[in-house]
Amino acid sequence: MLEAAIKQQLDQYLQLMEGDVVLRVSAGEDNVSREMLELVNELASMSSRISVERATLERTPSFSVTSPTEETGIVFAGIPLGHEFTSLVLALLQVSGRAPKVDADTIKQIQNIEGTYHFESYISLSCHNCPDVVQALNVMSVLNPNITHTMIDGAAFKDEVEAKEIMAVPTVFLNGEAFGNGRMSLEEILAKLGTGPDASAFSDKDPYDVLVVGGGPAGASAAVYAARKGIRTGIIAERFGGQVMDTMGIENFIGTAYTEGPKLVASLEEHVKEYGIDVMNLQRAKRLEKNDLVEIELENGAVLKSKSVILSTGARWRNVNVPGETEFKNKGVAYCPHCDGPLFEGKRVAVIGGGNSGVEAAIDLAGIVKHVTVLEFAPELKADQVLQDRLHSLPNVTVITNAQTTEITGTDKVNGISYVSRETNESHHIELEGVFVQIGLVPNTDWLDSVERNNFGEIIVDRHGATNVPGVFAAGDCTNSAYKQIIISMGSGATAALGAFDYMIRN
Ligand SMILES: Cc1cc2nc3c(=O)[nH]c(=O)nc-3n(C[C@H](O)[C@H](O)[C@H](O)COP(=O)(O)OP(=O)(O)OC[C@H]3O[C@@H](n4cnc5c(N)ncnc54)[C@H](O)[C@@H]3O)c2cc1C
Repeated sequence: MLEAAIKQQLDQYLQLMEGDVVLRVSAGEDNVSREMLELVNELASMSSRISVERATLERTPSFSVTSPTEETGIVFAGIPLGHEFTSLVLALLQVSGRAPKVDADTIKQIQNIEGTYHFESYISLSCHNCPDVVQALNVMSVLNPNITHTMIDGAAFKDEVEAKEIMAVPTVFLNGEAFGNGRMSLEEILAKLGTGPDASAFSDKDPYDVLVVGGGPAGASAAVYAARKGIRTGIIAERFGGQVMDTMGIENFIGTAYTEGPKLVASLEEHVKEYGIDVMNLQRAKRLEKNDLVEIELENGAVLKSKSVILSTGARWRNVNVPGETEFKNKGVAYCPHCDGPLFEGKRVAVIGGGNSGVEAAIDLAGIVKHVTVLEFAPELKADQVLQDRLHSLPNVTVITNAQTTEITGTDKVNGISYVSRETNESHHIELEGVFVQIGLVPNTDWLDSVERNNFGEIIVDRHGATNVPGVFAAGDCTNSAYKQIIISMGSGATAALGAFDYMIRN
C-alpha cells in the first residue's frame, strides 16, 4: 500500500522506536476497513515492535495506537495517510517511549492537567493545518493518562460530519462540546484550556532594549537583527509564525525553491531561539504608551517596558461584513480554500473577491467542488492575467463582475448568497452550500492610538522603519509598505531593528 520511497523513509523512523506498540483495529467489511487493515499489517511487517490486534472501538473503521501495558487514548478513525501520515509515525514513536519534541515546561504543564478530557478532531487528509492539531492532541494523550484523542477523517465519516454540521477543518470537540477551529499549536490548546501564565509570570522581567510585538517573519527578522547587536531583546506574539502558519506552498522565498509555511516557521523559531531572545508566545498586546520607556500592556494585565519597540503585528483576513457572514462562519462561510475545500466536494460554492487570492482559490476549488461562482465588486477581475486565463478555461466556473454581495443566507448552515448588480441595480440570489471570502487583509493595528496610521489602518513608517512616536518602529504587513510578502516583511524587520539600534545609540 505504501510507496517504495515512503517505505524506505518509514523504515528509518521505525528503527527509532524504543518499545512495543499495539495497533488495536476495529474493522468491518467496507473498503476503508480493508485499506486500513492493509496499512496496519504493512506497518507490523516492517517492525517487530509493532503488533496488530482486532478490537471493537467506538468507530469502525478505526484503530488505536497503544502500549501493550496501558491505553494511551490515541485513536485514528479513517486512514491517516496524506498530511496525517506524519501524525501516525509520530504517534508510533511517542507511544513506543520516544520523548516528544516539546520543552520541559510544556511537558510539566500537560502532566499537571487534572480532570478528564476527551478530544475529537475532524480533519481532511488534504488539510495542511490539521496535522499540527492532531499531533498536539496526541502528545497530550501520550503525556497525561486523563487525556484521550480521536482523529476523525471527515471523508470516511461523512454522516457524522453532516450531523455535526462541520464545514471547516480542523474542528475540535472536547468532551462532546465544540472546542475550536483552525490550526492550533500545542501551546494554543493549552492556553485555551486555561493553563497559560497570568500577569505575575511577567512581573520580574527587566526592561528590554528592543521589544518586538508580533512573531511573523517581520518580527522574527527584527528580533534576530536586534539580538545580534548583543542587546536585550524580547518578542510578544499572539501566535508565533503569523500568516506563514496558514500558508501551504511558498515558492518565492528567494534561495529556497519550495518550502511550506509551518516548515519556515519552525526554522524561524529555531533561529530566534539561537540568540536567547525572550519569546513570549500566545500573548496579545493591548496597549502601547510612551513614557520614559515604551510600555506595552498585555491582555493578562502584565506591563512590559522597553527602550524601543518594533510593531510587527501583521494582518488578518478581511471580513465582507454582510449579514450571514458571522452567523455561518464554519457553517459554510470559510476563508482557507486549501483547508476547507475538500469539505465542499461535489457542492456549489462562491468565492467573494477577484484578486489573486480569490482567483487562485476559485481555480483550486474548481477541481473539487461541483461549481464555483466568483463574485467581484469591480467591473473586472484584478488577478494576474495568467491566473484569469486559467480561470476562464475551467468549465465549472462562472465569473460575475460588478457584483456587490449583500447577504449570505442560510438556516442552520449556508444555503445561498445574494448580491446586487452594480450595473443594473437588480438583486440576485444564488443557491449554494459554501462561501469563501477572499477580499484581502486588514492590518492588526486597531489596539494602537498614539501611533500614526493611514486610511487603511497601516502604520506610517519612514525609511528607517520609525513611526511618529520616538523609540517606536514598525515593520511588515502592519505598515504602509507597498507590497505584503514574506521576504519584504523580513527586510523591513531588519530595517526596523537597525533603526531601533541607531535610535538607542543616539539617545
Ligand atoms: C494564505 C496566505 C498565503 C500567502 N502566501 C505567500 C507566499 O507564498 N509568499 C509570500 O511572500 N507571502 C505570502 N503571503 C503573505 C505573507 O504571509 C505575509 O506578507 C507575511 O506573513 C507578513 O509578515 P508579518 O510578520 O508582517 O505579519 P504576520 O505574518 O501577519 O505576523 C503577525 C504577527 O503578529 C502577531 N500579532 C498580531 N496582533 C498582535 C497583538 N496585538 N499582540 C501580539 N501579537 C500580535 C501575530 O500573532 C503574528 O505573530 C501569504 C499570506 C496568506 C494569508
